Amino acid sequence: MNLKGNWNYPTAIRFGAGRIRELPEACRTLGISRPLIVTDPGLAKLPMIADAVRACAEAGLAAAVFSDMQANPVEENVTRGVHVFRKGSHDGVIAFGGGSALDVGKAIALMTGQSRPLFDFEDREDWYTRVNVAGMAPVIAVPTTAGTGSEVGRASVITDVADHTKKIIFHPRMLPALVIEDPELTLGLPPQVTAATGMDALSHCLEAYCAPFYHPLAEGIAVEGMRLVKEWLPVAVRDGKNLEARSHMLIASSMGATAFQKGLGAMHSLSHPCGANLNTHHGLTNAVVMPYVLVWNRRAIEEKMARLAAYLGLQKHSFDGVLQWVLELRRTIGIPNTLADIGVRTEHAAAFAPQAFADPSTGGNPLQIDTPQFEKLYLNCIRGDMAASAG
Ligand SMILES: [Zn+2]
Repeated sequence: MNLKGNWNYPTAIRFGAGRIRELPEACRTLGISRPLIVTDPGLAKLPMIADAVRACAEAGLAAAVFSDMQANPVEENVTRGVHVFRKGSHDGVIAFGGGSALDVGKAIALMTGQSRPLFDFEDREDWYTRVNVAGMAPVIAVPTTAGTGSEVGRASVITDVADHTKKIIFHPRMLPALVIEDPELTLGLPPQVTAATGMDALSHCLEAYCAPFYHPLAEGIAVEGMRLVKEWLPVAVRDGKNLEARSHMLIASSMGATAFQKGLGAMHSLSHPCGANLNTHHGLTNAVVMPYVLVWNRRAIEEKMARLAAYLGLQKHSFDGVLQWVLELRRTIGIPNTLADIGVRTEHAAAFAPQAFADPSTGGNPLQIDTPQFEKLYLNCIRGDMAASAG
């Protein structure tokens, strides 16, 4: 099958191997003549960024690169990017990279036309209405990992260094106007990054599917996203050059972020404080806490898990069937079992619990969790006490 397509939901997506060559034409489509390519410092050194700059130049587009950002991006990264954007008289952003680069790129495009500070646009109540929409620059997103799905998301996650929390900056128009998904750009990802980011995609699908709201559209996307992860993540980790596996994982990633418009849950609530305080990898952290959160939510999701297990073709059409699959998948692709394995210690539990409770993802968890329960859940994840996690 030719794994190629032009789709229009949730935004315009050009999917298929080699389609990065359409980047200059995509700029023209959006009326961008001076794009700022926003990427991370590691990627900035790779040929794919130099190729993009050259392709733009050959098409008469004055592209520049901004890559001054860290792995869990902070406000300062966005502020500097806005400065570069304005100074270079840029008229659009090409957000090119993994989750951090995509989030910073989208935030720069938002902030270039605003007079309020970044965290005034946090995803709370109707704060997004504060945005001067006319001041937003157009964004083309080019994902180079398969997990975050930020290319089809309407938000950026930026760490507030004042209180070490990850804040979600949201506006519906932060959804990139055009996305180029070229799986060839992901062929070079090392196995550990493939595994960790792929598990982020799974956590998005799984948490969206479990969130207790009526949204069949999101649930349909989520279950097929999980099937693709089940079939293809182990292949992509084992054989990084497998273009078919890379293709399916890239779209599974976009499906996860499309589905989580419905909501996320405690996997993300637990993960965000670890990333904000200890710089743990987002997808890896989600992967570690995933089975503990499933067990916690068990009594609220049994029936849903049975349906999911049937769709995934698991042997047991039950909660236990899904849990066993998740544990097996984690083992196969080398995900550690406890938060202690990635540097979270018991003394962090009390400090992180209130941050987890305050995280916007918490509202989507199937069972309510209060701060003392988050502390207990952290301790279970740190000690590897999965059976004790039932909520
Ligand atoms: Zn995530």
